[in-house]
Amino acid sequence: MRGDQYLLLPGPTPVPERVVRAMSKPMVNHRGPEFKKLLMDVTDGVKKIYRTKQHVLIYPSSGTGALEAAVVNFISPGDKVLAISIGVFGDRFAKIAAQFGAQIEKIDFPWGQPADPEVIKKRIEQDKNREIKAVLVTHNETSTGVFNDLKTIREQMADHPALFMVDAVSGLGAVDLHMDDWNLDVVVSGSQKAFMIPPGLSLVAFNEKALKVHHENTNPRYYWDVTQGLKYLEKGQNPYTPAISLYYGLDESLRMMLEEGLDNILARHKGYRDMVREAVKEMGLQLLAPDNQASMALTAVKAPEEIGANKIRKYMLEHFNIVLAGGQQKLDNIIFRIGHLGYVRELDLVAVLAALEITLVKMGYHLELGAGIKKAQEIISNRD
Ligand code: PLP
Repeated sequence: MRGDQYLLLPGPTPVPERVVRAMSKPMVNHRGPEFKKLLMDVTDGVKKIYRTKQHVLIYPSSGTGALEAAVVNFISPGDKVLAISIGVFGDRFAKIAAQFGAQIEKIDFPWGQPADPEVIKKRIEQDKNREIKAVLVTHNETSTGVFNDLKTIREQMADHPALFMVDAVSGLGAVDLHMDDWNLDVVVSGSQKAFMIPPGLSLVAFNEKALKVHHENTNPRYYWDVTQGLKYLEKGQNPYTPAISLYYGLDESLRMMLEEGLDNILARHKGYRDMVREAVKEMGLQLLAPDNQASMALTAVKAPEEIGANKIRKYMLEHFNIVLAGGQQKLDNIIFRIGHLGYVRELDLVAVLAALEITLVKMGYHLELGAGIKKAQEIISNRD
C-alpha cells in the first residue's frame, strides 16, 4: 500500500512520533523512584484533562475494563440503576451492571439522538423513595457520533443522591467535560482515543461521594479494587505490574496536550467537526446526528442507500489506504464514521473528504467533484 495509512477511526487513533519514541524507553523498576515520578506526573496530568482534583486511577485495560471497574466498585448487587442509552456503548454499560447483579431500568433514546434531560428529570422526580443508586450515562456515544449534555442532565437530578457515572471513553479530551464543576461522581476513559496513545490503559476517576459508596460496596473484586489502587498510589505504585511503556507514552502525550492547552484542543476538535459536517452536507449526504449535539470526536454519515456504507469503506481502503469505521449493530452498512480525534490534522481530513468524493462518483452517486472540498477550504480560510 502506498504511504502511511490514514487511520480515521474513533479509536484507536494515530500515535504521534514523539509518543512512539517515548514508548521505546527501557523498562524501569515499577517499585522504584523513576516509576514513582512517572506515575505521579501522569496522574496529575490526567486530572487536568478531567478538570478534577479528585481521585484518578490508571488501569492496564481497555475502556471496557474501566466500565467494569466502575460497576464493581460503585454499584452493589441488587442496586437499582437507571441506565441511559443512546447507542451501543450505553447498552454496554447497562449490560455490565446487569451482569454484576444490578437491577437495571433502561431508558433508550433513538440512535442518532442525545438523551433528553427532561425525560431523565421526570424519572428522577418520580423516585420519591430515592431507590435509584446510580445513573449511567455516555459522554460521547461513539456508535452514533452524538454527545450528551452531561451538565444539564446532572443538574436535572437536583439533590437526588444517586451516583452519576459517566462513560467518557471516547469523549474525554475531545468533547468538553468538567468533572468537578459538573458534579460528575465517576468518570471513566481510555487511552486510545483523544490521549493519542495505543490501546491498553484505562482511567477511572471518582470523587469522595463515590468513595463513600465504594466503602459500603458488596461486590467481589480484586484486580479492579479502588481501595487497593489508592493505597498503592500513595506509595507511587500500582497493586500489580503496570504497563510501563504505555505510561511513558501517556506522559509524552500529556505533555503535548498541555503544551497545546485543553481549550485549544477542544476548539480544534470542534473545528474538525464543523468542517467535516459542512463538507459532507455539500456532497448531498445526510448526517446521523443533529448539529447541536454532534460529536466533536467523530462524524456519522448516512451512506446513499443504493450504495451502502461498507462498499464505500472498502473502496476507500483499497484505493486510498484510508480507514473509516463502519456502523455497529443495527447501523451496519447504513452509516460510516469518520473519526477526527486525537492526533489528526485538518488537511488530512480534507484529503479524506476528497477521497470520499471520488469514491462516491466512482459508485455512480451524483455529485459535483470538489463541492465538499470547496466548502472545507472556505471554512479553513475563513478562520483567524
Ligand atoms: N465506551 C465508549 C464510548 C467507547 O467508544 C468504547 C470503545 O470504542 C468503549 C466504551 C469500550 O472501550 P474498549 O474498546 O477500549 O474496551
